Amino acid sequence: MRSLKGAFMTQLLIRLFIRRPNSPQDPRVRAAYGNLASVVGMVCNILLCLGKFVVGTLFGSIAITADALNNLSDASSNIVSLVGFKLAAKAPDAEHPYGHARFEYLAGLVVSVTILGIGFSLLKESVTKALHPTPVQFGWLTVAVLVVSILVKLWMSGFNRAIGRIISSETLIATAADSRNDVLSTAAVLVAAILCRVTGWDVLDGLMGVGVAVFILISGWGLVMDTLSPLLGESPSEDLVEHIEQTVMGYPGVLGVHDLMVHDYGPGHQFASIHVELPAEQDPLEAHDLIDNIERDFMKHDHLMVTIHYDPIVTSDAAVGVLRSRLTEKLRQLDPALSLHDLRIVPGKTHTNVLFDLVLPAGYAGDKVELLTQMEQFIKEQDPTYNCIIKLEQSYTAAAHK
Ligand SMILES: [Zn+2]
Ligand SMILES: [Zn+2]
Repeated sequence: MRSLKGAFMTQLLIRLFIRRPNSPQDPRVRAAYGNLASVVGMVCNILLCLGKFVVGTLFGSIAITADALNNLSDASSNIVSLVGFKLAAKAPDAEHPYGHARFEYLAGLVVSVTILGIGFSLLKESVTKALHPTPVQFGWLTVAVLVVSILVKLWMSGFNRAIGRIISSETLIATAADSRNDVLSTAAVLVAAILCRVTGWDVLDGLMGVGVAVFILISGWGLVMDTLSPLLGESPSEDLVEHIEQTVMGYPGVLGVHDLMVHDYGPGHQFASIHVELPAEQDPLEAHDLIDNIERDFMKHDHLMVTIHYDPIVTSDAAVGVLRSRLTEKLRQLDPALSLHDLRIVPGKTHTNVLFDLVLPAGYAGDKVELLTQMEQFIKEQDPTYNCIIKLEQSYTAAAHK
């Protein structure tokens, strides 16, 4: 029942403040959603911070003050993401033709470093308080403020997750996870306050302060990693890779795909390139039309700018097909993460060249020389006149450890 009311509140806010809620791909609508989430989060966090700060100071509890500062750090991240969403929505200009959407990651990085700073100063204060405990008073006001805080954070978690899913924003989904963690930390502070009252052990307050500080530090560190990674450039999500490959393979005549690369210039600003294998016998004009259609398909449906490279595949030569399936099987036995493409057999007077590209996962730890020797040997076993030329390539879609 409660969650139903919470969802109702979320829907109401969306209806009131978002003009075209059903087109979240539109950068302006996306920015409106982002702004709404940031402003609502900011107002809630500032109110929670004020309430706890007053109670913590009145009753001399470092744990509650720490929890208040946790909300303040959340409020500051709301402000920074508000600025981030605004800058990210800026249209491309002459200096930045790829848009400004990476500002969202930069904003997140600034926030996470701030959170780390707050965490360290709290840790210092709480350790002092745990070593030299001062009396903590108890009031029902404390309980009331903490219970309200737990309920508000529960709702905020659902609210941020809902909007984060609508506009697929990592930032908001991270905020939702952060709100859920806040529920746990505030609940722990509440339990400590009650225990403090029941047992009279004032040291509990300082210890709980240390706990909350460590919690703030851990979440801050996680956020640093989350925002740094897309700035450095990371593998695209498995869902996106599968979607792109399935879409291309769905076109008639497409025999295979490989060498997919996705470049990310911030949410909603992705570029990709992929090699598409088509029968060599096909008319090149037809093949080009097909490729143009696929590119347009991605632009229209996924707002994704894809450049496609054309690889002709000889389908009439049975020897190529046989060798391809043997090599694929051999590679699968050596390491399922390996793959090959662009296999060609070029006969000459003295020997026959066998050429192909061998794809290694990024960060491949195996012995490359040994791998090449094994493949060369295997090919010689198929036919002693074969001379193989293997090009090693790195994959840009999946990390080696996955
Ligand atoms: Zn290729
Ligand atoms: Zn073209």
